[in-house]
Amino acid sequence: MFNIKKEMDIRICNKTSGCLPNVGYNNKYQSREDIMSDIIQVTVWNEFRHERDPNGEPAKVYPKGMHAVIAEYLSKQPDMKVRTAVLDDPEHGLIEDVVNSTDVLIWWGHIAHHEVKDEIVDRVHNRVLGGMGLIVLHSGHFSKIFRRLMGTTCNLKWREAAEKERLWIVDPAHPITQGFGEYIELPNTEMYGEHFDIPQPDDLVFISWFQGGEVFRSGCCWHRGKGKIFYFRPGHETYPIYYDENVMKVITNAVRWAVPVENAVKEFGNRAPLEKLG
Ligand code: ZN
Repeated sequence: MFNIKKEMDIRICNKTSGCLPNVGYNNKYQSREDIMSDIIQVTVWNEFRHERDPNGEPAKVYPKGMHAVIAEYLSKQPDMKVRTAVLDDPEHGLIEDVVNSTDVLIWWGHIAHHEVKDEIVDRVHNRVLGGMGLIVLHSGHFSKIFRRLMGTTCNLKWREAAEKERLWIVDPAHPITQGFGEYIELPNTEMYGEHFDIPQPDDLVFISWFQGGEVFRSGCCWHRGKGKIFYFRPGHETYPIYYDENVMKVITNAVRWAVPVENAVKEFGNRAPLEKLG
């Protein structure tokens, strides 16, 4: 999206209102149209195994894969350009060019986390630390990349009983929760319950209640390096969760929140003092 590293451009960026040059510092952009033409490069990654079993329930719910449904919704957003990648693509579809040109990566995995090559996890990890946003969905809690970024087991309780979930908004001022009332309801979901073995989130934006009695921290934000991470619980291969307008609105908000803001210059190592010492 931005060629900031190359151009040392500093901007005040808020994707919902457009990106503005930091006035007085950089006058590279010629017009408002140039500024507004910035597009968020989104890559939707899916392991895409459940949906390819022709006799399975997931193939009926998501015949083209969950990534296709998510990508179709996001590609209708005027500020997003969307690609998809799946596990069985060469390098899982996450070749260096793709990872390096992705602003926000969305991740769905479940039964084949172990098949994701460590070198690709390294690549994604480095890119997150460099500023790429990462949105981990549902059973992605056990993905290699999420567990590495969290440093904990990321384990949880679960039950598949098509029960009601009510996601309470507990941070109504957060960019990810804009445009909703007090809560979101999903009629049929898989239950995830506490304890969720994650580090304390930097921002906790949703807490889910389930019909069976459990609760769960279902919308959590962290910062790692320069990157922002959002874990969002809803989504299961046999329920039509990613056709739900509210779920997709949350993911859309999260993409805009997770956009790299690469205006922080980080320097490390031995330094001469800025002021005269002694
Ligand atoms: Zn599930």
